[in-house]
Parts: sequence; C-alpha cells; structure tokens
Amino acid sequence: DIHSGVGFLGMANADSDFSSRPSSARIYDALLGGNHNFAADREAAQGLLTIFPLAGDMARANRAFLSRVVHYLLDRGVHQFLDIGSGIPTVGNVHEIAQRRIPDARVVYVDIDPVAVAHSTDILKDNPWAAAIQADMRFPDAVLNHPTVRRLIDLDQPIGLMFVAMLHFVPEDDAYRAVQSLRSALPAGSYLVISHGVSETVADAKEAEVTALYRRTDVSAAHGRTRDQILSFFGDAEIVPPGLVWVHEWPDGGDGDARGMAVVAAVGEI
Ligand code: SAM
Repeated sequence: DIHSGVGFLGMANADSDFSSRPSSARIYDALLGGNHNFAADREAAQGLLTIFPLAGDMARANRAFLSRVVHYLLDRGVHQFLDIGSGIPTVGNVHEIAQRRIPDARVVYVDIDPVAVAHSTDILKDNPWAAAIQADMRFPDAVLNHPTVRRLIDLDQPIGLMFVAMLHFVPEDDAYRAVQSLRSALPAGSYLVISHGVSETVADAKEAEVTALYRRTDVSAAHGRTRDQILSFFGDAEIVPPGLVWVHEWPDGGDGDARGMAVVAAVGEI
C-alpha cells in the first residue's frame, strides 16, 4: 500500500511529486494487483482499464510469457540474463525461475524507476548472483559499463537480453539505437527477447487516449509499433519459431483466443 511504499523508501512526504506523478512501473504493478503503488498510479491504472478493459489480462499474459521464455533460454544454455525495464518485482521474476534450475544463474535487472529498483534491491539483498540497477536504457553504455553488470555478467558467455513490455515506452530513434547497441555487445548464442504493444489492434482513437494518459507519467512515450517495426529491433538476429506472435501464443499457440490482445512477442538468436 501507499504507506509501506513510502516507508520503504524512507520518504516522509507521501504528497511529494515523486508519489503524486504516476509511473509506468507502478501502473503496471497496480494492473497486476501488486501493492507497490501510490494512489496516483492506481487512478492511472483505472483510467487505462476504462480505455482498455483487457489491460490487466494482458499484463498477466505478458508475465506468463516472461516465465516461458526464461525456461526456453535455460534449455538453450543461457545462464545469464539482462532484464531491461524489469519493473516492480512480482511473483515469478527472472532470477526465481532461473535460479530454481541453475542456482548460480546471473540476473541483472535494469529499470529507470526508483521504486522498482528499490524493491528489487531489497528482495535481492541476500542473493549473490542477482542485482538491480537504476539506469535508462537509452544510454546503453552506462548499462553495459555499470560495475554491477561488469561484476555479474560475463560478456563472453551467452546472455538473454530481455525487453518485456517496455520498448513501447521508449521513443523511436532512442529505442532502435539503444537496442542495437546492446545487441551488438552480446556474444553468439545470446538471445534477444521482446514483447511489445502492437499498434494495429488498439483502434487509433484508443491509442491516442493511452498515449495521453502516459504523457502524465515518467515515460515520454507510450505507443505501439507495427509488426514490421517491432521485427526491425532484431536486426540480423535469427527469429526463432514460431516468430512474432501474440504474447500468449508464444511459443506454442496458447489457447488461440487473441481477442483484444495488443501485445506481440518474439525471440531472436544472436
Ligand atoms: N518487464 C516487466 C514485466 O513485463 O513485467 C515490467 C514492464 S513495465 C510495463 C515497463 C517498465 O519499463 C517499467 O518498470 C518502467 O519503469 C521501465 N522503463 C520505461 N522506460 C525505461 C527506460 N528508458 N529505461 C529503463 N527502464 C524503463
């Protein structure tokens, strides 16, 4: 709740700009039924559900994808994960899934949101192989050269580079340039994982409403991209089967019911 969140961060004033301005991380936490959010975030989440009633289902489908993809990467020998825009920890985070199978699997969570990073750091304080850092992915060198990344991630061994439900918050040129630069730092055998809002399904009017809602938050953009635009993040990475599909259909078709879905996902081998 609002008080535990504020207390946790050691902040005295719940009315500060910090808590009165919604953040994309905390709106998402509210959508998932988490309790690391403030009143302003819950209001924004409610607003989003009004525009887009399936937003909560989609957030859950997205988290389920995250879990499936971590197993997929573990099966292919990936034991290190860089989870960009990792958000507020909820059940089934990358390190929980990975370290259950590989106890010393390495995970670095990266998020721009201080609340997300503070909560992640707290739950990871006794975990020698996982950590969270606050960074803006638009500055990929700062991510790659961060001492925590350098300590935990071996850039000569395969890495799972994950952007799960986050690139639609990053404006055009910044997003492509940054993903490309992170991707090109990874060795062969690494994988790029993306789930992303697709613009073809949300009617244009709705997309404008969603963009307007997020304009009040910490992120400077919130917009879907077309499937081709999303695929272009992969550059020359080889997209693995089944390709770019609805997030709940990756990798095996799910229940096939895509009504109202607005998030697609794909995985590319580098
Ligand atoms: N990946 C998580 C998941 O799927 O459950 C969280 C997704 S949440 C919808 C998007 C996250 O991206 C938020 O936590 C937000 O703070 C983060 N974010 C947005 N822009 C960012 C940026 N430029 N750099 C790093 N993180 C960013």
